[in-house]
Formats: sequence, C-alpha cells, structure tokens
Amino acid sequence: MPIFWECDRCTACCRWPGQVRLTDADVTRIAAYLQLTEAEFIQGHTRLNLQRDGLALMDQSDGSCSFLDSGGNCRIQPVKPHQCSDFPNRWNFPGFEKICRAKPVEVTAEEWERRINAPPKPFAPLSENPARTADKPLLPQAEKNG
Ligand code: SF4
Ligand code: SF4
Repeated sequence: MPIFWECDRCTACCRWPGQVRLTDADVTRIAAYLQLTEAEFIQGHTRLNLQRDGLALMDQSDGSCSFLDSGGNCRIQPVKPHQCSDFPNRWNFPGFEKICRAKPVEVTAEEWERRINAPPKPFAPLSENPARTADKPLLPQAEKNG
C-alpha cells in the first residue's frame, strides 16, 4: 500500500535554510491571489534562485520564508508554490523524517491521488497545534517547502 505523509503544519520546512523555487504557474497563481500584477509580485516578493535559472521566494532576515507570518501561518497557503505542496510526498530527502512531523499513513493508490490533489488545508490556529513551536529544527542544504 502506498504511504501518504500527512502534514502536521509544524512549519519547520518554512524555516529551514534553502529556497522556495517558483514555477511560472506558481507566479501567475500567487500574483492573482495577492491581487498584484506578475511584475509587481516578482519585484516585491521574489529573488533569483541559487541556480540562477529562475525565481525563488524572498527570505526573512532569520532565513524563514517571507510568507510565513509571526503566528506561524503561510500567508499564501491556498496557492502556495508546488515545491511546498509537494513535500514530503512528491519529493523529500534522506532523513527528512527527523525534522518533518508529517505522519506516515497507509492508503490505497486512489486515496493517495485524491489526497495529493486536494487543495491545501488552512493552517490551524497556533493554540490548536502545539507542534508549531518557535524552535528551529534545521538541516543544512535542505529546501524549504511546506
Ligand atoms: S508553505 Fe511555502 S510559501 Fe508558505 S510559508 Fe511555508 S515555505 Fe513559504
Ligand atoms: S511538511 Fe513536514 S516540516 Fe513541513 S509543515 Fe508539514 S509536518 Fe512540518
């Protein structure tokens, strides 16, 4: 049976070092959600990615994603980049389970498809999710996602 990793919304992946790369579709979707033109969004919220072949979201001074608010919420959760929504089910890295609190659940192949294609759920209030602490479990070289 396939394993589906259920995100616990701990936000660790929004805070570890790395980058959130953007596809053209991400730019179009997020700009529309923020009611900005694509040019305004690119200018105000993105930077050149580390590979210098595309765009990534800007970081805050502590290295966390610029769209992670002080309450631990993603400000673009309904339209977040595919890199974020695909982790850790469509991509991950060795040892990710040590810092990502997603729970492995055995599901049918049909259920896996249904879950991976479902729109991202809103983050629960911080008070309802004790996993979302301010600690910073970090792995070098990892990429943010969420
Ligand atoms: S889910 Fe992605 S876009 Fe949202 S705060 Fe986390 S890293 Fe940033
Ligand atoms: S994918 Fe993992 S690290 Fe990211 S918010 Fe969900 S549980 Fe936390």
